[in-house]
Amino acid sequence: MRILILGPQGSGKGTQAKRIAAAYGAPHVATGDILRAAVSNGSEFGKQVRPILERGDLVPDDLMIELIRERLADEDTFVLDGFPRTVAQAEALDAMLDEIGKPLDAVILLRVSDEVATERLHRRAVEEGRSDDTSEVISNRLRLYHELTELVVDRYQLAGIEVIVDGEQSMDDVFASVQDALEGVVAGR
Ligand code: AMP
Repeated sequence: MRILILGPQGSGKGTQAKRIAAAYGAPHVATGDILRAAVSNGSEFGKQVRPILERGDLVPDDLMIELIRERLADEDTFVLDGFPRTVAQAEALDAMLDEIGKPLDAVILLRVSDEVATERLHRRAVEEGRSDDTSEVISNRLRLYHELTELVVDRYQLAGIEVIVDGEQSMDDVFASVQDALEGVVAGR
């Protein structure tokens, strides 16, 4: 299965993406994890993106598109988490998958309110000692989600392949809803 998971930071998409990946035996491709690994190993690319991540801004589209092109080159299946975040990234992804004849099977949107997302991000910052996750950075990320990524959400909704899941339920209930949705996709094939 080729699955895309969308939702703001704090929607629980990383956790759910890992569980879906394990359940369907597909690699979990998370751009945030790839970028954080580059920052911690101190590569040139890591040095370039570090200040962007610290501000909660977006890494430029051309860099992200190249990163994903290389990462997905040899994968038949995947659970993609954190990409696309802009319409340009979505267009590039669709073109890439079209070219190799491997369309997305499903797009899952985890819907949560700003209040819940903000509350979860503040709690995570305290629990995981992420002192750089300040209120300013958190609200910048949510602002960018509304301004740019919601257009990506609209795009896949129009394409009719998006399933909306209530991300404010417990972790297990969200996963059960996601599995129901994906079973529907498999049955409809
Ligand atoms: P995440 O773990 O997905 O929340 O990503 C952490 C950070 O990495 C984001 O706040 C962005 O700075 C950066 N990032 C991750 N994915 C992308 C993307 N597709 N486009 C631009 N920046 C990204």
